[in-house]
Amino acid sequence: MKSSRHRRIELTRRRAARKKATERIGYDVVSDKKLVTGMLASDPQRLAKYAPDGPYIRYYEDMTFQCRECDSPAVWRAEAQKEWHEVCGGHIFSRPKLCHTCRIEVEEMRNINRKKHIEGLVGKYGVEEASRRLRMTRERIEAYMRLWAAPAKKNQESER
Ligand SMILES: [Zn+2]
Repeated sequence: MKSSRHRRIELTRRRAARKKATERIGYDVVSDKKLVTGMLASDPQRLAKYAPDGPYIRYYEDMTFQCRECDSPAVWRAEAQKEWHEVCGGHIFSRPKLCHTCRIEVEEMRNINRKKHIEGLVGKYGVEEASRRLRMTRERIEAYMRLWAAPAKKNQESER
């Protein structure tokens, strides 16, 4: 049997979790802001910031689309749409093109290519010149290099 103290602690914990989730995605996860299952009310003020004259989205609804890369059907969740349009400032007409798996693959590829590109330039010309050519600050390049160097170093250490 749970004591009232335990129940109180549990309740406080749940409230805190709900508050955190609400702040993170910008709508109340429990209350009626979710109109019907799968339908999510928009926040006009947030939307107006990114599309002052654009068409007005009243609510978001899970949307299916076909991945341009692998042709498989994918779902763009209402929550993700809301975050994209209202938090990330994604254009009102923008739609996803890739499924989750393909997007991750593309991002990984992009990171690998960027790493090769930056490391190549640094290796060839040194950080100063690479920074000029990349129009990136020296600090940012060095931060990237540290980031890329870190996991390898960790592996070496764990192998010992
Ligand atoms: Zn795909």
